[in-house]
Amino acid sequence: MADLTAGAAQFQISPPQQALEAMSKLPPKPKNLSERTRLVHAGREPFEQHGFVNTPIYRGSTVLYPTTDDLLHRRGRYSYGTKGTPTTNSLETAWTELAGAAGTVLAPSGLAAVTVALLSCLKAGDHLLMTDSVYLPTRHFCNGMLKKFGVETTYYDPQIGPGIEALLRPNTTAVFTEAPGSQSFEMQDIPAIAEVTQRHGAVVLMDNTWATPLLFPPHERGVDIAIEAGTKYLSGGSDLLLGLVSANERCFKALRDTYDSFAMCPGPEDVFLGLRGLRTMALRLREHEKQALDMARWLEARPEVARVLHPALESYPGHEIWKRDFKGSSGLFSIILKPCSDRALAAMLDGLALFGMGYSWGGFESLVIPFNCASYRTATRWEPGGHALRFHIGLEDLEDLKRDLDAGFGRLLETEARAA
Ligand SMILES: *Cc1c(COP(=O)(O)O)cnc(C)c1O
Repeated sequence: MADLTAGAAQFQISPPQQALEAMSKLPPKPKNLSERTRLVHAGREPFEQHGFVNTPIYRGSTVLYPTTDDLLHRRGRYSYGTKGTPTTNSLETAWTELAGAAGTVLAPSGLAAVTVALLSCLKAGDHLLMTDSVYLPTRHFCNGMLKKFGVETTYYDPQIGPGIEALLRPNTTAVFTEAPGSQSFEMQDIPAIAEVTQRHGAVVLMDNTWATPLLFPPHERGVDIAIEAGTKYLSGGSDLLLGLVSANERCFKALRDTYDSFAMCPGPEDVFLGLRGLRTMALRLREHEKQALDMARWLEARPEVARVLHPALESYPGHEIWKRDFKGSSGLFSIILKPCSDRALAAMLDGLALFGMGYSWGGFESLVIPFNCASYRTATRWEPGGHALRFHIGLEDLEDLKRDLDAGFGRLLETEARAA
């Protein structure tokens, strides 16, 4: 009797004869392609899809086998909808190539990607070190779910660098990083943290949503497991929820096994939209970078602004680390205003015509939110000395955006003057 528990992927069958013939006429793909070219080609095999440029949306649960023998041996590239389809395989393959990973799993949201990544390397009795600047829902998962299942979390100062060594305990199995913090923008020295952590035998995870693998190649810099909220720059349209987790050789098997246990698969339409976003991601990111940097410099010169938290600005405390490790910056940054009343801030924000107020980011449109980390930080104090605002700079005309903000600052000052 055949082993019915055998995994599907180990039984490979070839594409149909017609596809093989078409592919045999193609020149081989050149090696050492640049990133732009890889973004266009990765994960596509048009002649496995009758020549169509994009891998289509495969909807399916059941996968049929031609004979009993094939079924008992799970002979076939695909075995069941939750285990993968040509659509999910396209995005996984492309992301693996882009991230320089051993493999990738997809998830229905960025937060789902964070949780499956954490669960792949933690068990009851383990200790987790978590950056104090982490995305807030990740923090809730640690303080709620992980605690309930017997994992203890200690928060650390994001700027700790190699000093993380002092916090490692015999049962510390994972160190989670996020650089920069997606509201407060502390820069983390990832290679230094990775070096110390791996010497200890623990796994290094990173939420790499801000930079994407295009601006920070996570595994090359020592990260074992990298998380991306595809909801942000992979989508680029504020119309998609998707997560991706890439891992190196050391961690991929455990990640894939954990993923399979949950069958945490995104729907095929969403994966297709992720693939569509991938092809233009570099182009969009470059534009977000240019626009955000210009806006950050403009804000830095405003008398109403105390500080701009943008890693690519020379004035930023984490700038040297950013310059050493990152290939660019994205469209998200924060500012600290000089002290003003809540009413003055509301007058500024409520009247903005072009900046939307809402969570998430990475789409084509500009956003702003006020935020305050003071109530939940435990390892560091958040005392910026004024209201904090986070901006995402979209693809609108910059002069239009500046006029909108300029009028906002006008309302802020006017409200302050009236109260005085
Ligand atoms: C948005 C975000 C997530 C979560 O992504 P969702 O798809 O919204 O669940 C995780 N990490 C960071 C840094 C994010 O900005």
